[in-house]
Amino acid sequence: MTETRDTVILGSGCAGLTAAIYTGRAGLNPLVLEGHEPGGQLSITTLVENFPGFPEGIQGPELIANMKQQAERFGAEFQLAHLSAVDLSVHPYKLVTSAGEICTRTLIVASGASARWLGLPSEQALIGHGVSSCATCDGFFFRGKEIAVVGGGDSAMEEALFLTRFATKVTLIHRRDAFRASKIMLDRAMAHPNIELMTNTVVEEVLGVEEKEVKGLRLRNVKTGNITTLPISGLFLGIGHEPNARMFKGQMDTDEEGYIRTKDNVFTTHRGVVVPGVFACGDVQDRRYRQAITAAGSGCMAALEVEKFLEEHGR
Ligand code: NAP
Repeated sequence: MTETRDTVILGSGCAGLTAAIYTGRAGLNPLVLEGHEPGGQLSITTLVENFPGFPEGIQGPELIANMKQQAERFGAEFQLAHLSAVDLSVHPYKLVTSAGEICTRTLIVASGASARWLGLPSEQALIGHGVSSCATCDGFFFRGKEIAVVGGGDSAMEEALFLTRFATKVTLIHRRDAFRASKIMLDRAMAHPNIELMTNTVVEEVLGVEEKEVKGLRLRNVKTGNITTLPISGLFLGIGHEPNARMFKGQMDTDEEGYIRTKDNVFTTHRGVVVPGVFACGDVQDRRYRQAITAAGSGCMAALEVEKFLEEHGR
Protein backbone atom coordinates (compact mmCIF):
# COMPACT_ATOMS: atom_id res chain seq x y z
CA MET A 1 0.00 0.00 0.00
CA THR A 2 1.28 3.47 -0.88
CA GLU A 3 1.60 5.63 2.20
CA THR A 4 -0.59 8.78 2.40
CA ARG A 5 1.08 11.82 3.95
CA ASP A 6 -0.56 15.01 5.20
CA THR A 7 1.90 17.11 3.29
CA VAL A 8 4.79 16.75 0.88
CA ILE A 9 7.10 19.66 0.06
CA LEU A 10 8.88 19.73 -3.28
CA GLY A 11 12.19 21.53 -2.96
CA SER A 12 14.62 22.29 -0.15
CA GLY A 13 15.55 25.92 -0.78
CA CYS A 14 14.51 28.83 1.36
CA ALA A 15 10.79 28.49 0.55
CA GLY A 16 10.60 24.70 1.01
CA LEU A 17 12.57 24.76 4.26
CA THR A 18 10.43 27.53 5.73
CA ALA A 19 7.32 25.56 4.79
CA ALA A 20 8.92 22.50 6.45
CA ILE A 21 9.59 24.44 9.67
CA TYR A 22 5.98 25.66 9.85
CA THR A 23 4.25 22.40 8.86
CA GLY A 24 6.65 20.47 11.11
CA ARG A 25 5.87 22.72 14.04
CA ALA A 26 2.15 22.20 13.30
CA GLY A 27 2.71 18.46 13.82
CA LEU A 28 2.14 17.52 10.16
CA ASN A 29 5.31 15.45 9.81
CA PRO A 30 6.18 16.94 6.39
CA LEU A 31 8.20 15.01 3.85
CA VAL A 32 10.62 17.20 1.90
CA LEU A 33 11.77 15.92 -1.48
CA GLU A 34 15.10 17.71 -1.77
CA GLY A 35 15.07 17.86 -5.58
CA HIS A 36 17.86 18.12 -8.15
CA GLU A 37 19.58 20.99 -6.35
CA PRO A 38 19.35 20.34 -2.59
CA GLY A 39 19.36 23.59 -0.64
CA GLY A 40 18.40 25.58 -3.74
CA GLN A 41 20.15 28.70 -4.96
CA LEU A 42 21.37 29.84 -1.55
CA SER A 43 23.43 26.69 -1.24
CA ILE A 44 25.61 27.82 -4.14
CA THR A 45 25.91 31.46 -3.20
CA THR A 46 28.40 33.23 -0.94
CA LEU A 47 27.61 35.96 1.55
CA VAL A 48 23.94 36.83 2.01
CA GLU A 49 23.86 40.38 3.30
CA ASN A 50 20.17 41.17 3.15
CA PHE A 51 18.48 38.36 5.09
CA PRO A 52 17.18 40.11 8.23
CA GLY A 53 18.69 39.02 11.52
CA PHE A 54 22.31 38.73 10.40
CA PRO A 55 23.92 42.17 10.77
CA GLU A 56 27.25 40.94 9.40
CA GLY A 57 25.60 38.73 6.73
CA ILE A 58 25.65 34.95 6.65
CA GLN A 59 27.05 32.45 4.12
CA GLY A 60 24.22 31.01 1.97
CA PRO A 61 25.07 27.33 2.69
CA GLU A 62 25.16 28.06 6.43
CA LEU A 63 21.76 29.76 6.33
CA ILE A 64 20.31 26.76 4.49
CA ALA A 65 21.94 24.25 6.88
CA ASN A 66 20.46 26.16 9.84
CA MET A 67 16.98 26.15 8.29
CA LYS A 68 17.20 22.42 7.60
CA GLN A 69 18.29 21.71 11.15
CA GLN A 70 15.41 23.85 12.42
CA ALA A 71 12.92 21.91 10.26
CA GLU A 72 14.32 18.56 11.42
CA ARG A 73 13.90 19.64 15.03
CA PHE A 74 10.16 19.86 14.33
CA GLY A 75 9.98 16.43 12.72
CA ALA A 76 10.42 17.22 9.01
CA GLU A 77 11.74 14.25 7.01
CA PHE A 78 14.11 14.76 4.10
CA GLN A 79 14.51 12.52 1.09
CA LEU A 80 17.17 12.95 -1.61
CA ALA A 81 14.64 12.45 -4.40
CA HIS A 82 12.86 14.44 -7.08
CA LEU A 83 9.39 14.33 -8.60
CA SER A 84 9.08 12.33 -11.83
CA ALA A 85 5.31 12.49 -12.39
CA VAL A 86 2.20 13.70 -10.64
CA ASP A 87 -1.56 13.33 -11.09
CA LEU A 88 -3.50 16.26 -9.68
CA SER A 89 -6.88 15.04 -10.94
CA VAL A 90 -7.48 12.56 -8.09
CA HIS A 91 -7.24 13.47 -4.39
CA PRO A 92 -5.20 12.41 -2.36
CA TYR A 93 -2.57 13.16 -4.98
CA LYS A 94 -0.24 10.46 -6.21
CA LEU A 95 3.39 11.44 -6.68
CA VAL A 96 5.88 9.31 -8.54
CA THR A 97 9.35 10.17 -7.28
CA SER A 98 12.85 8.92 -8.00
CA ALA A 99 12.54 7.03 -4.68
CA GLY A 100 9.09 5.47 -5.21
CA GLU A 101 5.41 6.44 -4.94
CA ILE A 102 3.76 8.59 -2.30
CA CYS A 103 0.19 9.82 -1.82
CA THR A 104 -0.41 13.15 -0.18
CA ARG A 105 -3.38 15.21 0.93
CA THR A 106 -1.55 18.47 0.32
CA LEU A 107 1.42 19.50 -1.76
CA ILE A 108 3.69 22.50 -1.45
CA VAL A 109 5.54 23.24 -4.68
CA ALA A 110 8.78 25.00 -3.77
CA SER A 111 10.84 23.66 -6.66
CA GLY A 112 12.52 27.01 -7.33
CA ALA A 113 14.30 28.03 -10.48
CA SER A 114 17.47 26.77 -12.20
CA ALA A 115 20.26 28.59 -13.98
CA ARG A 116 19.57 29.70 -17.55
CA TRP A 117 22.01 28.99 -20.40
CA LEU A 118 22.59 30.88 -23.63
CA GLY A 119 21.67 27.77 -25.61
CA LEU A 120 24.65 27.82 -27.99
CA PRO A 121 25.79 24.33 -29.07
CA SER A 122 29.42 25.26 -28.24
CA GLU A 123 28.37 26.44 -24.78
CA GLN A 124 26.48 23.21 -24.09
CA ALA A 125 29.41 21.11 -25.34
CA LEU A 126 31.81 22.83 -22.94
CA ILE A 127 29.75 22.75 -19.73
CA GLY A 128 32.12 21.36 -17.12
CA HIS A 129 35.09 22.07 -19.40
CA GLY A 130 35.35 25.78 -18.68
CA VAL A 131 31.68 26.79 -19.01
CA SER A 132 29.79 27.08 -15.74
CA SER A 133 26.75 28.75 -14.18
CA CYS A 134 28.08 28.56 -10.64
CA ALA A 135 30.99 30.79 -9.68
CA THR A 136 31.10 29.53 -6.10
CA CYS A 137 31.26 25.91 -7.31
CA ASP A 138 33.84 26.31 -10.07
CA GLY A 139 35.67 29.61 -9.50
CA PHE A 140 38.56 27.86 -7.80
CA PHE A 141 39.57 26.16 -11.08
CA PHE A 142 40.38 29.52 -12.66
CA ARG A 143 43.13 30.68 -10.34
CA GLY A 144 45.51 32.95 -12.28
CA LYS A 145 43.39 32.79 -15.48
CA GLU A 146 41.35 35.28 -17.50
CA ILE A 147 37.64 34.61 -17.66
CA ALA A 148 34.31 36.16 -18.73
CA VAL A 149 30.92 36.53 -17.08
CA VAL A 150 27.73 37.11 -19.10
CA GLY A 151 24.79 39.08 -17.69
CA GLY A 152 23.72 42.48 -16.43
CA GLY A 153 21.81 41.62 -13.25
CA ASP A 154 22.84 41.16 -9.62
CA SER A 155 23.86 37.53 -10.23
CA ALA A 156 26.37 38.56 -12.90
CA MET A 157 27.80 41.32 -10.67
CA GLU A 158 28.06 38.94 -7.73
CA GLU A 159 29.74 36.26 -9.85
CA ALA A 160 32.19 38.73 -11.40
CA LEU A 161 33.17 40.10 -8.00
CA PHE A 162 33.53 36.65 -6.49
CA LEU A 163 35.64 35.43 -9.41
CA THR A 164 38.19 38.23 -8.93
CA ARG A 165 39.41 36.16 -5.95
CA PHE A 166 40.79 33.65 -8.43
CA ALA A 167 40.97 35.14 -11.93
CA THR A 168 43.48 37.80 -12.89
CA LYS A 169 40.93 39.48 -15.14
CA VAL A 170 37.14 39.20 -15.45
CA THR A 171 35.40 40.58 -18.54
CA LEU A 172 31.74 41.29 -17.85
CA ILE A 173 29.75 40.95 -21.06
CA HIS A 174 26.24 42.42 -21.27
CA ARG A 175 23.92 42.58 -24.25
CA ARG A 176 22.65 46.11 -23.49
CA ASP A 177 24.11 49.25 -21.91
CA ALA A 178 21.46 49.48 -19.17
CA PHE A 179 21.59 47.13 -16.20
CA ARG A 180 19.08 45.27 -14.07
CA ALA A 181 21.64 45.02 -11.29
CA SER A 182 21.10 47.10 -8.14
CA LYS A 183 23.21 50.26 -7.97
CA ILE A 184 25.29 49.02 -5.05
CA MET A 185 26.28 45.80 -6.84
CA LEU A 186 26.92 47.55 -10.15
CA ASP A 187 29.07 50.22 -8.46
CA ARG A 188 31.10 47.56 -6.64
CA ALA A 189 31.76 45.65 -9.85
CA MET A 190 32.63 48.79 -11.82
CA ALA A 191 35.01 49.95 -9.12
CA HIS A 192 37.00 46.72 -9.17
CA PRO A 193 40.32 47.12 -11.01
CA ASN A 194 40.25 43.55 -12.39
CA ILE A 195 36.74 43.75 -13.89
CA GLU A 196 36.38 45.09 -17.40
CA LEU A 197 32.97 45.88 -18.82
CA MET A 198 31.87 45.12 -22.38
CA THR A 199 28.34 46.36 -23.15
CA ASN A 200 26.10 45.88 -26.21
CA THR A 201 27.90 42.61 -26.78
CA VAL A 202 26.67 39.03 -27.23
CA VAL A 203 28.50 35.72 -27.30
CA GLU A 204 28.19 34.05 -30.70
CA GLU A 205 30.38 31.05 -30.02
CA VAL A 206 32.49 29.54 -27.28
CA LEU A 207 35.81 28.52 -28.80
CA GLY A 208 37.57 25.30 -27.85
CA VAL A 209 35.04 22.55 -28.56
CA GLU A 210 37.61 20.42 -30.38
CA GLU A 211 40.21 20.90 -27.65
CA LYS A 212 37.51 20.14 -25.01
CA GLU A 213 38.43 23.27 -23.05
CA VAL A 214 37.39 26.88 -23.35
CA LYS A 215 39.92 28.84 -25.39
CA GLY A 216 37.98 32.03 -26.03
CA LEU A 217 34.76 33.67 -27.19
CA ARG A 218 33.59 34.96 -30.53
CA LEU A 219 31.71 38.15 -29.71
CA ARG A 220 29.43 40.44 -31.69
CA ASN A 221 28.77 44.07 -30.89
CA VAL A 222 25.01 44.45 -31.41
CA LYS A 223 25.32 48.18 -32.24
CA THR A 224 28.18 48.04 -34.75
CA GLY A 225 28.01 44.41 -35.88
CA ASN A 226 31.77 44.12 -35.20
CA ILE A 227 32.99 40.58 -34.54
CA THR A 228 35.88 40.13 -32.12
CA THR A 229 37.64 37.27 -30.37
CA LEU A 230 38.30 37.33 -26.64
CA PRO A 231 40.85 34.79 -25.41
CA ILE A 232 39.69 33.42 -22.03
CA SER A 233 39.84 30.12 -20.13
CA GLY A 234 36.44 30.19 -18.47
CA LEU A 235 32.91 31.40 -19.16
CA PHE A 236 30.37 31.95 -16.38
CA LEU A 237 26.68 32.53 -17.09
CA GLY A 238 24.86 34.91 -14.79
CA ILE A 239 21.77 35.43 -16.94
CA GLY A 240 18.99 34.49 -14.57
CA HIS A 241 16.94 31.41 -13.92
CA GLU A 242 14.06 29.31 -15.27
CA PRO A 243 11.23 28.11 -13.02
CA ASN A 244 11.17 24.37 -12.32
CA ALA A 245 7.50 23.78 -13.10
CA ARG A 246 7.62 21.65 -16.25
CA MET A 247 6.25 18.57 -14.44
CA PHE A 248 2.98 20.43 -13.79
CA LYS A 249 2.41 21.34 -17.43
CA GLY A 250 -1.24 20.89 -18.32
CA GLN A 251 -2.24 20.51 -14.66
CA MET A 252 -1.48 23.98 -13.35
CA ASP A 253 -1.67 27.48 -14.81
CA THR A 254 1.69 29.04 -15.65
CA ASP A 255 2.65 32.35 -17.25
CA GLU A 256 4.41 32.79 -20.60
CA GLU A 257 7.83 32.19 -18.99
CA GLY A 258 6.67 29.06 -17.16
CA TYR A 259 6.29 30.53 -13.67
CA ILE A 260 3.35 29.03 -11.74
CA ARG A 261 0.50 31.53 -11.55
CA THR A 262 -0.86 31.86 -8.05
CA LYS A 263 -4.07 33.31 -6.69
CA ASP A 264 -3.79 35.20 -3.37
CA ASN A 265 -0.02 34.54 -3.42
CA VAL A 266 0.15 30.76 -2.92
CA PHE A 267 -3.01 29.07 -4.27
CA THR A 268 -2.39 27.21 -7.52
CA THR A 269 -5.02 27.07 -10.23
CA HIS A 270 -5.88 24.99 -13.28
CA ARG A 271 -7.87 26.83 -15.95
CA GLY A 272 -8.52 29.49 -13.34
CA VAL A 273 -9.96 27.10 -10.74
CA VAL A 274 -8.06 26.52 -7.48
CA VAL A 275 -6.35 23.11 -7.29
CA PRO A 276 -7.41 21.96 -3.81
CA GLY A 277 -4.57 21.52 -1.34
CA VAL A 278 -1.79 22.38 -3.79
CA PHE A 279 0.22 25.50 -3.03
CA ALA A 280 3.24 27.10 -4.67
CA CYS A 281 5.85 29.30 -3.04
CA GLY A 282 9.30 30.75 -3.66
CA ASP A 283 10.97 31.32 -7.01
CA VAL A 284 8.85 28.82 -8.96
CA GLN A 285 5.96 31.29 -8.69
CA ASP A 286 7.78 34.58 -8.19
CA ARG A 287 9.20 36.33 -11.23
CA ARG A 288 9.11 39.72 -9.59
CA TYR A 289 10.99 39.68 -6.26
CA ARG A 290 13.01 36.42 -6.23
CA GLN A 291 14.64 37.13 -2.87
CA ALA A 292 15.53 34.68 -0.11
CA ILE A 293 13.31 36.55 2.32
CA THR A 294 10.30 36.68 -0.02
CA ALA A 295 10.75 32.95 -0.74
CA ALA A 296 10.80 32.27 3.01
CA GLY A 297 7.72 34.45 3.49
CA SER A 298 5.73 32.66 0.82
CA GLY A 299 6.87 29.28 2.21
CA CYS A 300 5.36 30.32 5.52
CA MET A 301 2.11 31.38 3.80
CA ALA A 302 1.85 28.07 1.92
CA ALA A 303 2.38 26.13 5.16
CA LEU A 304 -0.35 28.09 6.95
CA GLU A 305 -2.74 27.38 4.05
CA VAL A 306 -1.88 23.67 4.26
CA GLU A 307 -2.82 23.68 7.94
CA LYS A 308 -6.09 25.47 7.17
CA PHE A 309 -6.90 23.10 4.31
CA LEU A 310 -6.31 19.98 6.42
CA GLU A 311 -8.35 21.41 9.28
CA GLU A 312 -11.25 22.19 6.94
CA HIS A 313 -11.03 18.62 5.64
CA GLY A 314 -11.27 17.08 9.09
CA ARG A 315 -7.59 16.31 9.73
P1 NAP B 1 18.02 39.09 -13.72
O1 NAP B 1 17.90 40.25 -12.79
O2 NAP B 1 16.82 38.61 -14.44
O3 NAP B 1 19.17 39.44 -14.77
C1 NAP B 1 19.47 38.58 -15.83
C2 NAP B 1 20.48 39.29 -16.73
O4 NAP B 1 20.88 38.37 -17.74
C3 NAP B 1 19.91 40.50 -17.43
O5 NAP B 1 20.86 41.51 -17.47
C4 NAP B 1 19.59 39.97 -18.83
O6 NAP B 1 19.73 40.93 -19.83
C5 NAP B 1 20.65 38.93 -19.02
N1 NAP B 1 20.21 37.86 -19.92
C6 NAP B 1 19.12 37.06 -19.83
N2 NAP B 1 19.06 36.17 -20.85
C7 NAP B 1 20.16 36.44 -21.62
C8 NAP B 1 20.66 35.87 -22.81
N3 NAP B 1 20.05 34.84 -23.42
N4 NAP B 1 21.80 36.39 -23.34
C9 NAP B 1 22.44 37.41 -22.72
N5 NAP B 1 22.03 37.98 -21.58
C10 NAP B 1 20.89 37.51 -21.04
O7 NAP B 1 18.58 37.78 -12.96
P2 NAP B 1 19.62 37.66 -11.75
O8 NAP B 1 20.76 38.56 -11.94
O9 NAP B 1 19.84 36.21 -11.59
O10 NAP B 1 18.79 38.19 -10.47
C11 NAP B 1 17.55 37.60 -10.12
C12 NAP B 1 17.06 38.17 -8.78
O11 NAP B 1 17.92 37.76 -7.72
C13 NAP B 1 17.03 39.69 -8.76
O12 NAP B 1 15.90 40.09 -8.03
C14 NAP B 1 18.29 40.04 -8.01
O13 NAP B 1 18.19 41.28 -7.32
C15 NAP B 1 18.42 38.88 -7.04
N6 NAP B 1 19.84 38.66 -6.67
C16 NAP B 1 20.34 39.40 -5.64
C17 NAP B 1 21.66 39.27 -5.25
C18 NAP B 1 22.19 40.07 -4.11
O14 NAP B 1 21.56 41.02 -3.70
N7 NAP B 1 23.34 39.75 -3.57
C19 NAP B 1 22.50 38.38 -5.95
C20 NAP B 1 21.97 37.65 -7.02
C21 NAP B 1 20.65 37.82 -7.37
P3 NAP B 1 18.62 42.08 -20.06
O15 NAP B 1 18.79 43.04 -18.92
O16 NAP B 1 18.96 42.64 -21.38
O17 NAP B 1 17.28 41.38 -20.04
